[in-house]
Amino acid sequence: MLYDTHTHLTHEKFNADRDDIIALMRENECCANTVGVDWESSQAAVALAWEHEHIYAVIGQHPVDNRAEQFDQSSYRKLLAESASVVAIGECGLDFYWVDPDEGGERERQRDIFEAQIELAIRKQLPLMLHIRPSKGTMDAYEEGLEILASHAQTADDALFGTAHFFVGDWAIAKRFFELGFYVSYPGIVTFSREFDEVVQNAPLDRLLAETDAPYAAPEPMRGKRNEPRYVRYTIAKLAELRGISEEEMVGQMYDNGRRLFGV
Ligand SMILES: [Zn+2]
Repeated sequence: MLYDTHTHLTHEKFNADRDDIIALMRENECCANTVGVDWESSQAAVALAWEHEHIYAVIGQHPVDNRAEQFDQSSYRKLLAESASVVAIGECGLDFYWVDPDEGGERERQRDIFEAQIELAIRKQLPLMLHIRPSKGTMDAYEEGLEILASHAQTADDALFGTAHFFVGDWAIAKRFFELGFYVSYPGIVTFSREFDEVVQNAPLDRLLAETDAPYAAPEPMRGKRNEPRYVRYTIAKLAELRGISEEEMVGQMYDNGRRLFGV
């Protein structure tokens, strides 16, 4: 079974053929976490997961996708109470790539929303689906995000865990995530960029995950096209090659890792 741990099936780019895409996932033995980025898409993720056994919901607020929205923890708590299909909180975190954190209270705004979701995840004993993107040529958002996570970890016992989605951090950053009990997840970029090989090759095999981030970021040989969950197999094949194990073994490892973290 293929496990795409981060995708956006509720995205409007799937409006015309969502049912076909989901049927193709089933045919290709592919399950996925469909991820919300704000209140509306989180509700849609829950609705979609309710309808399909091989789709799980992740609910939360992206740091910069909908900057006008406040994070209302009580609404999310209600949604969690009503639905058994939610497997993680997010995608949440810090994004210093698209938005300058030094611009008018932006750093504080992102931190507040992030910390509210950390608290929610700890309270509900759910993993965090982290979106952390540093500004160009730096590790700044990772440094700050790790600091925030570490401060919550002190009081959370074992209830603070999760994964760094679309991980672009270096080996030093990766090690700090592993020490905190987190996983790192790779999308299709590993199929055409060699920038991530050091982490892929040195990470504990039981802390790696694969994802598509569909409809974005399609792997080779689908590059430039709309991405789909079942294309996660190209990413997993590349991860297998980089680790020197068979594709079949890596498919199984990625599925086991995803099931362990998300409890599906
Ligand atoms: Zn995403």
